[in-house]
Amino acid sequence: MAQLIDGKLVSKKILENLSDEILFLSQKPCLAVIIVGDDPASKIYVNLKKKKALELGIDSIVEEMSASTTQEELLNKIEQLNNDDKVNAILVQLPLPKHIDTKIVIEKINPIKDVDCFHPYNMGHIATGCKPYVYPCTPKGIIRLLEYYNIPIEGKHAVIVGRSNIVGRPMAQMLLNENATVTICHSKTKNLEEITKTADILISAVGQKNLIKAGMVKDGVVVIDVGMNRTDDGKLCGDVDFYNVEPKASFITPVPGGVGPMTICSLMQNTFDLYKIQNKNQEI
Ligand code: NAP
Repeated sequence: MAQLIDGKLVSKKILENLSDEILFLSQKPCLAVIIVGDDPASKIYVNLKKKKALELGIDSIVEEMSASTTQEELLNKIEQLNNDDKVNAILVQLPLPKHIDTKIVIEKINPIKDVDCFHPYNMGHIATGCKPYVYPCTPKGIIRLLEYYNIPIEGKHAVIVGRSNIVGRPMAQMLLNENATVTICHSKTKNLEEITKTADILISAVGQKNLIKAGMVKDGVVVIDVGMNRTDDGKLCGDVDFYNVEPKASFITPVPGGVGPMTICSLMQNTFDLYKIQNKNQEI
């Protein structure tokens, strides 16, 4: 039987420490979130972020812009937040409406306020083995989970299924920087099962329920399930066939309660870290 990797517990401990540190600051860190349009899922995510920030004593600004906002208007809003000394961290909730070029928008964020670590300046630092201002939230949360459970990374074969800019790619670079041997798989990968079977650490970030089946993993594998899907009866589930994979694994994350809480936890930590970087010459 595998040991469960409890993201709820780990994130709670990290956030308790963070809230203690924030308590003693004279000025509070500030996270600005921009949401464009009425996507219901995006609204839920933004509200969760706002609620968590308030719980921790982080100021949050939510800039709601209509679906018809032009790219120029959005770039102007980012410019205004870039220039606002009170704002330490800027997050543009994705996806954006189709008429807006996400790449241009992300590149407009000042890298020192890029709380998601999507800007090429920060991504480029990770890709070249250097330190970005902060690390991307989901991969950072996963590394912290591995550390908390003393799961060694160095020399291990890490297989990542999914190559998005949000999860798969930065995850691969970060594990490489931790001296794992890394393989990235995607929708065009042939013989996925042959590759996943060789994983010491298997990370699935696809968004397809039951993609990872028991026959695709070796005994003792560490399984990190990033996927967020719905079962036929509407319950949240991951990419992994948990019921059948868990008995073969040494460690496994549940969904919900695994990676999800760590992502929001990293967002709060990143906001605080950016605050510290921007105020490093002042006593805080
Ligand atoms: P994404 O941008 O849609 O990327 C999905 C990736 O999966 C792509 O690289 C795609 O390959 C690959 N893929 C699709 N079908 C595949 C298959 N049959 N075999 C192997 N690879 C396949 O998604 P994302 O933003 O990375 O998110 C992935 C999942 O994680 C989603 O369920 C999302 O909701 C969840 N998520 C959870 C958290 C959290 O905090 N828990 C955070 C972020 C995302 P191609 O590149 O070839 O298309």
